[in-house]
Amino acid sequence: MISYGKHNIDANDIDAVVDVLQNHFLTQGAKVPEFEQALCAYTGASFCTAVNSGTSGLHVACLALGIGAKDIVWTSPNSFAASANCALYCGADVDFVDIDPQSRNLCPIKLEQKLLAAQQAGKLPKALVLVHFAGQSCDLQTIHALCSPLNIAIIEDAAHSLGAQYNNKPIGSCEFSDMAVFSFHPVKSITTAEGGAIVTNNADLARACALFAKHGITRDPALMQGEIDGPWYYQQLVLGYNYRLSDMQAALGLSQLTRLDDFIEQRRVIAQRYFERLADLPLALPQAKVLQSSSWHLFMVELTEHQRKNVYQQLHDLGIGVNVHYIPIHCHPYYQALGFERDDFPAAVKFYENALTLPIYAGLSAAEQDRVILALQQVLR
Ligand SMILES: *Cc1c(COP(=O)(O)O)cnc(C)c1O
Repeated sequence: MISYGKHNIDANDIDAVVDVLQNHFLTQGAKVPEFEQALCAYTGASFCTAVNSGTSGLHVACLALGIGAKDIVWTSPNSFAASANCALYCGADVDFVDIDPQSRNLCPIKLEQKLLAAQQAGKLPKALVLVHFAGQSCDLQTIHALCSPLNIAIIEDAAHSLGAQYNNKPIGSCEFSDMAVFSFHPVKSITTAEGGAIVTNNADLARACALFAKHGITRDPALMQGEIDGPWYYQQLVLGYNYRLSDMQAALGLSQLTRLDDFIEQRRVIAQRYFERLADLPLALPQAKVLQSSSWHLFMVELTEHQRKNVYQQLHDLGIGVNVHYIPIHCHPYYQALGFERDDFPAAVKFYENALTLPIYAGLSAAEQDRVILALQQVLR
């Protein structure tokens, strides 16, 4: 079975992890700060906090912005549940802005309309969680121009888009956002098994992220209150969590990061071949204009003539492990119980109903991709 996504671990990656196991620190050693610095160097962001998952990263980013009860956070319904759950963890309310069917990302026009209505109702969101779906960047500059006069913070959910570019700058540069959050789950651009990171150019937000991710505890005398008992002293300043990444994971991340550009190039070559070879089939392709800027986390097509359930099953029978991303967040029973209706965000639901995720990952061979293409031709003709 050819799966839709897969990690890529080589001998150097393994050596890097073994090296940590044979040394003094398994966690809280030198590898985590090294990994954080390497992520800053790659993205161009000034600060980075590594955490134990992308979900933890989104939670910490919301906490750092001071999001709490009575606040509102908006995101895209076309995403993994974590993009919205992070606000609920903080006691805030969540709402969604429907997608643009072409980019499959949060639609700036619908955002502008919803902001106008929210402003009149006195119910503006405190933050927007922007998902770069499948690795294709949102229209960051336009969205930033809409949000910034209203003091709405922007968190990029960049779980799909490490290695992608916007305006020729790496995603994570945070030029048009407050923070960007990455995930290093095995299907993402690089992996640390589980892991994530928050990058930002704002020193206060960086400090808050580090604090919330490490029990709310500081050892920095400059941040402490009152008397300092001695050199052993530490203080808990806020209610934080243990969201730390381990040194084993950071060592894997460091090794993987040196391979990131190659991984993305491989994904782009695969995407290009899909564009060329699937053009005649009854399906809608992603936007070709992002071929060189997307990180191609997912390659998703929309079926235009066939029933998705049948196609999915027939492809699985042929050994092609296609998948579907995502069940729109507002359609989950948990969110339905909060009052959302399936029809609230029709573009996201329409996309979901016909969407199919084709295999794409660094290490997928041309022969394997040919099998995928052949199977698609067989099933759809
Ligand atoms: C993977 C993913 C996350 C969560 O990342 P984890 O590291 O699995 O916690 C968040 N948002 C999106 C869009 C994702 O794809």
